[in-house]
Amino acid sequence: MTLSKHPETGCEFHIAFLGSGSRGNCIAVCSADEVILVDAGLSARETRRRMAEAGVDEANVCGILLTHEHSDHVAGVRVLAKCLDVPVLATAGTIEGSSHLAAVKVMERIRPDDDFTIGSLKIRAFRTSHDAVEPVGYAFEDARGVRFGLASDTGHVPAAALEVLQSCSMVGLESNHDVNMVRTGPYPAFLKNRILSATGHLSNDDAALVLERLIESGVRSVCAVHLSEQNNRPQIVRETLEACVHRLGADTRIIVASQHTTVTCSG
Ligand SMILES: [Zn+2]
Ligand SMILES: [Zn+2]
Repeated sequence: MTLSKHPETGCEFHIAFLGSGSRGNCIAVCSADEVILVDAGLSARETRRRMAEAGVDEANVCGILLTHEHSDHVAGVRVLAKCLDVPVLATAGTIEGSSHLAAVKVMERIRPDDDFTIGSLKIRAFRTSHDAVEPVGYAFEDARGVRFGLASDTGHVPAAALEVLQSCSMVGLESNHDVNMVRTGPYPAFLKNRILSATGHLSNDDAALVLERLIESGVRSVCAVHLSEQNNRPQIVRETLEACVHRLGADTRIIVASQHTTVTCSG
């Protein structure tokens, strides 16, 4: 086994956002001892290619956690779990809500708000607000107590989820759309309403409000995830979130994940 480290900081506990957006999501949470994948919305082949490119040794992967059953999060899971020979963990609602999971060999149920461990990582699933059966975000704590939290595909960030995220020094936070771009864009009304609803996706402005709260609790790095290609621009996300950092006189690092390339983050 080769243990990878963050390419710039040398940190063992680091996060590789392998792909993020409505065409497929997968995040590698890499600790000193293991790698856990969150979601498998890219093809297995593409996930393995991006892991190799990012220096994430697939031999260290010991499980795949799912946030919810939408296909941009699960489309590759059956083949990937088989190739890597690892279990898939998800809430009961996610398991029942997806046909992609019927053929997965080892499927384990997790419950929101319960802590569980995989290797040296302590993990907590927390409820998000999304139009899926039982969607969750996750927080991971490594052996030294460093924490990474992920909240994506959530129309708003519920109070209990915010509380978990505020205990993390690294956060992956959805910054899906610019509200004006959705309102004036080409999507049909039902889709606009879905995106903008409390069980849709988090806007850039709402992400900035959450970021304010994270800065208050001392977050070090925030990676904006799940950007809409139709209704957002990476530059708008960066400017919106960095303006918030500057306004509060903080030095939080803002990173913007991409659909097509891997972006890494460490505490
Ligand atoms: Zn999604
Ligand atoms: Zn979704």
